[in-house]
Amino acid sequence: MWTLARILIAIGAALVLYLIAAAILRKFWIPAPEEPEPGELRPVHHRYRCVVCGAEVTMTAAPTDEVPEAPRHCREDMALVVEADADGG
Ligand SMILES: [Zn+2]
Repeated sequence: MWTLARILIAIGAALVLYLIAAAILRKFWIPAPEEPEPGELRPVHHRYRCVVCGAEVTMTAAPTDEVPEAPRHCREDMALVVEADADGG
């Protein structure tokens, strides 16, 4: 009878130790954030064309609700391309 009690106590103690060790490891296991906070950006679709050489870029994310400042190319501000509705693709 006492043998069964000691086995149960041993199992309980091992379980408690396991839970404590897991909690400690979980507290120290902090994954390093590698990407910027996605909540700060919103998906956009702005096309800009270089007025000098004609190169075009598409901006796919912007940090604010406003139209982002135009990027520069060939030392000039790129022009925002106003796209017509896609028809006849
Ligand atoms: Zn250019």
